[in-house]
Amino acid sequence: MKILLTRPLHDFALMELRKRYDVEVHKGKVPMPKRLLLSRIADKDGLICYPYDRIDAEIMAAAKKLRAISTFSVGYDHIDTRAAAGRGIVVSYTPEVLTGATADLTMTLILDILRRASEGDRLIRSGRWKTILGPYEFLGSDLSGKTLGILGMGRIGTAVASRARAFGMKISYHSRSRLPASREKILGARYVTLDRLFRESDVISIHAPHTPETNEMVDMKILRKMKRSAYLVNTARGKIINERDLVVALRTGVIAGAALDVFQMEPTGPANPLTRLTNILITPHIGSATSETRRAMAEMAVRNLVLSLSGKKPVYQVRAG
Ligand code: NAP
Repeated sequence: MKILLTRPLHDFALMELRKRYDVEVHKGKVPMPKRLLLSRIADKDGLICYPYDRIDAEIMAAAKKLRAISTFSVGYDHIDTRAAAGRGIVVSYTPEVLTGATADLTMTLILDILRRASEGDRLIRSGRWKTILGPYEFLGSDLSGKTLGILGMGRIGTAVASRARAFGMKISYHSRSRLPASREKILGARYVTLDRLFRESDVISIHAPHTPETNEMVDMKILRKMKRSAYLVNTARGKIINERDLVVALRTGVIAGAALDVFQMEPTGPANPLTRLTNILITPHIGSATSETRRAMAEMAVRNLVLSLSGKKPVYQVRAG
């Protein structure tokens, strides 16, 4: 059987794959240019891809032999899962193994934006720390006693809730489905409407997937519901936020600040007006980027593909939607 990887993976994972398959690894431009992907996928039985590869119906139509797609991510908004189901292609992904790392990064962003740590780092490095700070200068906010509003209370949302509770935060959440009462009790989390979540929270943290329903759901209309002192944190997907509206909201004081790990277009850089604002903290999509987690994701991506190509159920299969 022949398989394609749209970029190199850990050596141990490639060795595992080479024991079983004829493996082609794209080593060039990332993401793999569509025309190249269309030509290379034609004779492949399996594919390992990444969140920035668009695996649409056209790619699947060109992939006459394709039986399995294994994505190195928990998000699968880059794959046309309906087209895959229509062609009998099994789609698998890597949830669970990256939950802790992504929740940790979310807490890093919440702590940093509330305590202005990176802003302080920039102050010193740019030579602007000229006098010893007085009692009213460079003040941040305590986490303790503040309300964290979680949008999307799934695996990562609940992991963030447990961590934030340890910092003394109160937890509200809004999600597509409400948690069982026993789970809410353990997490100390209160279910509220979307409207209340945005009106009452001191920090909103997004953990919903990117879907047609969540696409740009955080726009000016919803940002205006937030307290002027509130912060927005996004470690889910950039397309959930209307970035143009967020720039205006941050510039005009509609909200106090934001911390983002994900963007509408990635990679992003100085051309993005977000990068010119001071009340924002930005990281380059590193939610799952720890050695341990990326290794576990590689193991899972390989296991999923091997199981799918041997006609068995992968460990984590995406339901067609
Ligand atoms: P998950 O367990 O599926 O949790 C997502 C939650 O969002 C579920 O509870 C889901 O409800 C809820 N939801 C779905 N649609 C919604 C809507 N329209 N409004 C409100 N809630 C909605 O997924 P996860 O493992 O926590 O991952 C969440 C997302 O994080 C992924 O989709 C991925 O895009 C992102 N992520 C980013 C990074 C990074 O590097 N920054 C790393 C990992 C993950 P149901 O329970 O009804 O399905």
